[in-house]
Amino acid sequence: MTPKGLYCAKGGFYIDPHRSVEVAVVTHAHSDHARRGSREYICEESGADLLRVRLGKNISIKTYKYGEIFYLNGVKVSLHSAGHILGSSQVRMESEGEVWVASGDYKRDKDPSCEPFETVPCDVFITEATFGTPKFVWQKNLNHGEMIHQWWIENEKNGLNSILFGYSLGKAQRILAELYPFAHKPVLIHSSIHELTECYRGQNRNLAKTQVLMEKIKELIFDQKLKGELILAPPSIMTEKWIHHLGNYQTAFASGWMQGSGRRGYDRGFVMSDHADWNDLIQTIKESRARKVYVQHRDGVLVRHLKKEGLEAFPVEELFHDRFLPKSGENLRLL
Ligand SMILES: [Zn+2]
Ligand SMILES: [Zn+2]
Repeated sequence: MTPKGLYCAKGGFYIDPHRSVEVAVVTHAHSDHARRGSREYICEESGADLLRVRLGKNISIKTYKYGEIFYLNGVKVSLHSAGHILGSSQVRMESEGEVWVASGDYKRDKDPSCEPFETVPCDVFITEATFGTPKFVWQKNLNHGEMIHQWWIENEKNGLNSILFGYSLGKAQRILAELYPFAHKPVLIHSSIHELTECYRGQNRNLAKTQVLMEKIKELIFDQKLKGELILAPPSIMTEKWIHHLGNYQTAFASGWMQGSGRRGYDRGFVMSDHADWNDLIQTIKESRARKVYVQHRDGVLVRHLKKEGLEAFPVEELFHDRFLPKSGENLRLL
């Protein structure tokens, strides 16, 4: 760990660096992982267009398929599906017979908008733990598409629009993929979702039909015909000036945070997470068979739990580079 983020000193590359670097291996296109300014980006093939939308068309990207092996300064590297969003990857690094895996964000729940999570055995596992407390346990095997559609037609019967909030990248497209077998008319999507959604279609993901919300509003602005629509938008939409054109509506939020007090302020909450819950974090850590585990975010409870289970577990801060600087004059080239 360095001030710029996780750094593979031997391979000379960073994973999801917070600042500009020479070589950035990017686990996925969410803004806390993909930042502008690096000279070269490396990502999984299906996520490259998302990265271009987020970071600019002209960035230099090298892409590899899941499981494809490549070498960076002699370190054997491969990307493996994290099941989080389209193209999301865990980074496997092998050198001198030791394997490290950095998970990035991951989930194990079914998601038709991306490849399923893959378990990658390793010696050292750096895991995210966004929902790393026991109170976050998702109900499994829910049919989110059917549930959302049910809510939509219920509101439609009552002459109401349905506004469903979800993050523009990942959650929105997962909702569209879950709705694909059910949607009876196009879903109206906010413009910030549109371009990202097209990247998913470009990778042959089946998504419910969509129409850009503003086009529809322009069409209908003079007659109050906007009724019974499902509108998919980021939460920021509520501060936009034209919101009153949406007439009478019900709101819902789709998020892991909807479990617990997060649902306050919305008519409905769909517990739909992009991240592993408590049980899946523990299952994944066990299945990795790692002898050492470093935990990113919310590490306290999970680290304590893993230690009780007899694992060597640490908060990721333990990886801070000063602990790894060799005592002799040799330098690790920390940039
Ligand atoms: Zn993410
Ligand atoms: Zn993240």
